[in-house]
Amino acid sequence: MLTFEEKVSIFNKLKEQSGSHSPSITSLFKEIDDLKIDVDACFLSNPYATELFFSFLKSELIETQKIFGVIEYYPAQNKSIAKSLSSAIKVPAKNIFIANGAIEGIQAILHRFVKDSIAVPIPTFSSYYEYVQNLGVKCYLYENSKENDYKLDLSLYSRFIRDNNISNCVIINPNNPDGNHLDRNDLIAFLKSHQDLDNIILDESFIHFTKGSNLEIESLDQEILNFQNLIVVKSLSKDFGIAGIRAGYLLMDEKKVSSLLSNGYLWNSSGLAEYFFKKYSDKSFRSLYEEVRLKYIDQTEKFYDQLKTLKGIHIIKSKSNFFLAEILNKKTSSEVFMELLFKHNIYVRDCSDKIGLNGEYIRIAARSKEENTKIFNALKNVL
Ligand SMILES: *Cc1c(COP(=O)(O)O)cnc(C)c1O
Repeated sequence: MLTFEEKVSIFNKLKEQSGSHSPSITSLFKEIDDLKIDVDACFLSNPYATELFFSFLKSELIETQKIFGVIEYYPAQNKSIAKSLSSAIKVPAKNIFIANGAIEGIQAILHRFVKDSIAVPIPTFSSYYEYVQNLGVKCYLYENSKENDYKLDLSLYSRFIRDNNISNCVIINPNNPDGNHLDRNDLIAFLKSHQDLDNIILDESFIHFTKGSNLEIESLDQEILNFQNLIVVKSLSKDFGIAGIRAGYLLMDEKKVSSLLSNGYLWNSSGLAEYFFKKYSDKSFRSLYEEVRLKYIDQTEKFYDQLKTLKGIHIIKSKSNFFLAEILNKKTSSEVFMELLFKHNIYVRDCSDKIGLNGEYIRIAARSKEENTKIFNALKNVL
């Protein structure tokens, strides 16, 4: 049996190796023998959607043994998967780039289309500034203000871009790690006044966790047809809880899609990802997904109401499936994190390495109802 202190030291070593992302659960289990994780509140996914997808995978691929063919043969090509996705999201296939996880697409566009300079609001998903390093691109970090709970102020951001003569920019909506959500009309106004930029990268990886007035998903995906410089990034890892499959897509001007496909990315999806995209485009699967999406949002809202009652912590209001929380009781975020993990078996995200945050923060993902109760009780105990 390892002591608490020994576990802390092993964790810190693993953390160092995984850079600005959290160590994966699998690597934790490998290194810490008697580790127990009851709730993974670090990974930001809808557990009900994972169950839903897995039930189809089991009955359609595993029980029928069709999985054999999925493994044996080459999967469909990029363009062919784009075609089946096209009907589901109502964007022409020629504007769709299928990615092996959104991260592959992010890397592709940053390396291929971003020249000169880019604006990135912080705190943020770190790849946006890390992947432009050493490419001769000047990266301007725009600091969101703590007083405003790190919500991006689009008009100040707009001025920042103009004042510094920046040619590309990133917006994540809702933003990771704080869950702040930008209004659709404000975003459209921003797009209108920045048509001179080379690229506006809008990452909507968490958009399924917001619900509009008619419960619909408030995506700006169709707007790529109106704004030539708009690139919409969409991960499917979080909303469907299928990070291991690596499925995401990007929407952009057709010339950019052709440019990416002209010398690469032919079979960049796996057979499992191809199967996932087929389900994603299937009407009856989508209506089942819609049920678990709304159920999860509903529970996430209740979880927020519960978290708000805790003393010694400030929970930022989020339109996504996670909460950024500032520890106000003199403990550091790392202390709270380690106690949650090694004393209560709850894995959250210690945000002490996130640039742009000023204070002690952890990020807590909403899970199933039962798991949320466990997180709440553990947090109450630690605080
Ligand atoms: C997780 C995440 C991604 C990457 O998702 P993958 O599809 O798993 O590669 C992209 N953008 C944001 C904001 C994310 O949080």
